[in-house]
Amino acid sequence: MSSAALVEVRDLVKVYAGEPPTTVLRGLDLDVDAAEVVGLIGPSGCGKSTLLRILAGRESATAGSVHIGGTRVDGDDDAAGVRLRRHTVGIVRQGADLNLVSHLDALANVALGADFVGTNRRRSTERAAHLLDLVGLADRTTAKPAELSGGQQQRVAIAAALINEPAVVLADEPTSALDRRSSDQVWGLFDHIRGQLGTTVLVVSHEMALADHVDRVLQMADGAIAGEHSAANLDGSTVVDQRGRIRLPADWLADRGTPESVRIDRDGDDLIIRGDG
Ligand code: ADP
Repeated sequence: MSSAALVEVRDLVKVYAGEPPTTVLRGLDLDVDAAEVVGLIGPSGCGKSTLLRILAGRESATAGSVHIGGTRVDGDDDAAGVRLRRHTVGIVRQGADLNLVSHLDALANVALGADFVGTNRRRSTERAAHLLDLVGLADRTTAKPAELSGGQQQRVAIAAALINEPAVVLADEPTSALDRRSSDQVWGLFDHIRGQLGTTVLVVSHEMALADHVDRVLQMADGAIAGEHSAANLDGSTVVDQRGRIRLPADWLADRGTPESVRIDRDGDDLIIRGDG
């Protein structure tokens, strides 16, 4: 474990009170380095959103610790949580209705967060325009959310999350309502933003396709990190995701091209994969 990690989570436990209590996080450890783009996947209910809420200072941990940029994140300290979300952490939620104000245009939506930190209007408008350009929407500054596609709305939401130059963006299933092409665009954007601004990104999804766009994918199961797929081992092997879908090895695809369909036969414990062409 690197002591220089930007996001450092140690032995994180979250138990929700109730009869019986629900233990959601069970000693979770996580390190995300500065300027890393990390995907977090796992089945519904495994604790992904709870982890993101704790990282954003919206929820307290039952035990364990979270540090971002060396500062302890404490979900019980409301004022510190507000400061964290204004300056250090940018948040992108699932739906445009949660991310954007419907009566404001794209530029005003992106600039909104700057008002809370007292940035002067001219500077925040300039930065909002720059961020809209960065997410490929320079020509839609005056569009209201309802005039934008779902993918465009999420790109505006990502620009809005960046307005106060956060060190890290936390995105909770930002593509859940999008088709594959729009999802690819949104995921690709995180890498672009990291390249342009050096922003660290932790993005939650249940889509294994996310793996094509991030440095590594952490697999969450039962309240802890259960495994990791780096780009290297994704390239070299067939990966089965939580829904039982397989990702074909890159060298298999390079040899045969992308098939229309594949046939999978069993040979003892081995699966034999044949393309249609
Ligand atoms: P995921 O994002 O992976 O779908 P969540 O973090 O939303 O998982 O939820 C994990 C578990 O915690 C679920 O079983 C959920 O019902 C439970 N949970 C989430 N929030 C609360 C809460 N405020 N009180 C009690 N249980 C909760």
